[in-house]
Amino acid sequence: MPWEDFPEAQQSVSLLTRSIDRGRLGHAYLFTGESPDRLERVAGELAMTVNCQGGLFQSRGRIPTTACGTCSACRRIREGIHPDVHWLRAESKSRIIRIEQVRELIQAIQLKPTEGRLKVGVLVGADRLNPQAANAFLKTLEEPPPASLLILLTTEPDRLLETVLSRCLRLSVPGESGLNTERTEWVGAFARELQQPPKSLLSRYRVLDILLRRLAELRAGAESDVEARSPAHRFKEADSALLEQWEEEAKAAVEAEYRLRRSLALRDLQSWFRDIWMATLSMTQVSPILPGLESLTQAVAARLTPAEAVANLRRMEETQALLNTNVQEALALEVTLLRLHL
Ligand SMILES: [Zn+2]
Repeated sequence: MPWEDFPEAQQSVSLLTRSIDRGRLGHAYLFTGESPDRLERVAGELAMTVNCQGGLFQSRGRIPTTACGTCSACRRIREGIHPDVHWLRAESKSRIIRIEQVRELIQAIQLKPTEGRLKVGVLVGADRLNPQAANAFLKTLEEPPPASLLILLTTEPDRLLETVLSRCLRLSVPGESGLNTERTEWVGAFARELQQPPKSLLSRYRVLDILLRRLAELRAGAESDVEARSPAHRFKEADSALLEQWEEEAKAAVEAEYRLRRSLALRDLQSWFRDIWMATLSMTQVSPILPGLESLTQAVAARLTPAEAVANLRRMEETQALLNTNVQEALALEVTLLRLHL
C-alpha cells in the first residue's frame, strides 16, 4: 500500500501521535471519509508511526511523530505482517464483522506488544459490526488495554451505534474527488489579484490576505464540524470528567482537521503554480489542472521565466513542510508570499 502519495495524512498523524505521546488522548479513534482506501492509508500511517524503529527516532520511550517508512517495522506494517498490528475486516461473504472476530482482536491487543511500542487493532468497515459484535467491543473501546491503540474506519459513520461513536475520537479524512468548485473559487480570487504584477508591498499583502481569509474559513469549518459531532450534545448528563475529556479531544480533532484542510488548500494553490510553470515552458500538450483559470495562468506565466516558476513550486513545497512543524503559521505564509515570483 503506497501511503507516500498521500502526504496530508502525515499532518494528522503527527498531531495524533504527539497527543498520544503526552498521554492526553484516549486510545480509540474513528476515521471517517468517502474513500475506504484513504482511510486505510491514514490508519496504516498511524500504525507505522507509533511503532517505527527508524534510526532518527531512538529517543527511548517517546512516540515518534513521523514514520521513517524504511525500517523493518515500517516495512512489515506496510506489508500487513507486523506481529503487533492487527487488521480486522468483514468476511467477504457475509460482509458482516462477527463477534468471534472481535473477540480474537480484543485478545490479541490485550497481550503486551511483541516488539513494537503499541499494539494496534484496525477495524476496517466498522459499520459492518453486527450489534452483538459492537456490544462485545464497547468495554475495550472504553478502556483500551495499556499500550494499545484502536482505530475504527468507516465511510458510513451514521450506521454506527451511538455508544461506539461516543467512545472514539473522530477524525474525517478528505476524499480524492478532485478540485471542487468551492476549493477552486478561492484560488481564482488569488489568481485574479495577480492579473497585474504586484508592484507594491501593499499589493502583496492583499494577496496574502486572500490566503489568510481562506484559512480562517477552513478553521471555522473544522470547528463547527467537530462541534456538531461531539458526543457532548448527545449525552448531556455525562459526568464532568468525561465532558472535560471530550472537550480536550475536540480541541485536538479541530487542530488535526484544520491542518488537513489547510494542506489541501495549499495543494490547490500548488496546482495553479504547476499550471503556470507548464505555461512558461509552453507545454500546451499538458492539460492544465485548473482550466478555468487559463487566462490568468497565461498572464502570470508571461512575466516569469521557467526557473522562477519552478522556484515558486519549491517554495510552496517548503512552506507545506514548514507548516508541519510548530512554526507560526501567519509568519511562515507571509515570508512565503513575499518571496514568490509573481
Ligand atoms: Zn520506520
